[in-house]
Amino acid sequence: MQTIPHLIGGHATETSTRHADVFDPATGAVTRRVALASADDVRAAVDAAQAAFPGWAATTPLNRARVMFRFKELLERHAGDLAAIITSEHGKVLSDARGEVTRGLEVVEFACGIPHLVKGEHSMNVGRDVDSWSEYAPLGVVAGITPFNFPAMVPLWMFPVAIACGNTFVLKPSERDPSAANFMADLLKQAGLPDGVFNVVHGDKVAVDALLDEPRVQAISFVGSTPIAEYIYARGSANGKRVQALGGAKNHMVVLPDADLDGAVSALLGAGYGSAGERCMAISVAVCVGDATADALVAKLAPKVAALKIGPGCLDPEMGPLVTGAHRDKVRGYVDAGVAEGATLVVDGRGHAVEGHAAGFFLGGCLFDRVTPEMTIYREEIFGPVLCVVRVPDFDTALRLVNAHEYGNGTAIFTRDGGAAREFAHRVQAGMVGVNVPIPVPMAFHSFGGWKRSIFGPLHVHGPDGVRFYTRLKTITARWPETHHAEFVMPTMK
Ligand code: NAD
Repeated sequence: MQTIPHLIGGHATETSTRHADVFDPATGAVTRRVALASADDVRAAVDAAQAAFPGWAATTPLNRARVMFRFKELLERHAGDLAAIITSEHGKVLSDARGEVTRGLEVVEFACGIPHLVKGEHSMNVGRDVDSWSEYAPLGVVAGITPFNFPAMVPLWMFPVAIACGNTFVLKPSERDPSAANFMADLLKQAGLPDGVFNVVHGDKVAVDALLDEPRVQAISFVGSTPIAEYIYARGSANGKRVQALGGAKNHMVVLPDADLDGAVSALLGAGYGSAGERCMAISVAVCVGDATADALVAKLAPKVAALKIGPGCLDPEMGPLVTGAHRDKVRGYVDAGVAEGATLVVDGRGHAVEGHAAGFFLGGCLFDRVTPEMTIYREEIFGPVLCVVRVPDFDTALRLVNAHEYGNGTAIFTRDGGAAREFAHRVQAGMVGVNVPIPVPMAFHSFGGWKRSIFGPLHVHGPDGVRFYTRLKTITARWPETHHAEFVMPTMK
């Protein structure tokens, strides 16, 4: 069986004694195994990244951008291969995997503009014959720790910006779908990136803790579940690192009575069940204002959920399997809990079978109505194809509900009322807001991130925040010729 190795200093290394199984979620079969790094493996990766840093930091931004341009071309050329790898280990349908690659590629395009992004500012004559300017310097070795649900896109949120800024990078991808990271590392090498600038160590908590405790790692970008994000932030910050840690979500979509209902139904179908609900920007709660809105929406949505085309991702149906059998069972457990707590299960996908794939990790789409805020299925992130409908009497109650939830990643409102949409956008406590747009993922040249317990740390990922996160500011104040008298008072500009 193929073992997926670490990539350290440009070379595949396989010294690990521990391994994890990697599954094809459509068949349930173990197809590969992945090496799980020891603390020594992590140290070797940081050694390689540290050694590569001075040369890479001294490479001009223009030449760093040229590597990114070549990487972009290679990613475009191999997008189909990368999507097939994603589908084979994650399970999502092929066209969705292609979409993920495209959204990641857009960050590479953003990073191609790095000479402009790190230009800094200049002020002439801040005092008589004194000039001042700012520069953005790279940090050194930085690390990324990423989740299973976007094995290409989430790493691509991080490393193109970090590397373009002049840092060297150690990526610790999810051990559940690790092959996409190695594929991208190979493309970076082909693009002419010097060995050691980008390294991949596979692993679990052992590798993560080694990165968190490694003094030479200057910054950590993390995306994953909230308990782990909080842990990463606490331990990384205690060790003096910069940390951005993005966590879980429970994204609400508010549907007002004047909304285009067919549009809202289509939006919920895609945003609730696309990628089997395994998206941090998935809509998992539909908040219907008024019983008439809820009745009409559920009546239109239920038959579509029941008729979802579900099958192996490589055949490109509408929905594939969940990532592992354990995760599928956890999601099914939430559905059981919802029934036990008294929600109305309008569509029950628990018994869904896919012909010829009895051992695949499939679950049919599930739709709950009359969900209330104290229920487990409302409070917790399910991360599966389960949509909860909550009924509220008016706009203010809808807004209060969204704002009271512990998560604040994304949210959306569907309405034809511009005033209501504007008020919602300004008063809602979430990092990303859609108006008649169910999944408002910011483009690469903006920054992505939530509020509340969906993020720990001040800076969002990619876009302007990404450049700030991966650089530190230096401000230089210069006077020529030198002055010849000592000054004993606090300098003020004359
Ligand atoms: P996860 O938290 O289980 O794992 C994320 C990473 O942390 C992986 O690399 C994993 O190996 C590592 N990890 C897991 N347990 C650890 C531990 N105890 N100590 C140290 N490291 C550990 O998340 P997941 O299941 O891979 O991904 C799904 C979660 O990610 C969901 O909660 C989803 O909302 C979230 N997510 C958030 C965003 C966002 O932008 N906010 C984006 C994608 C996914």
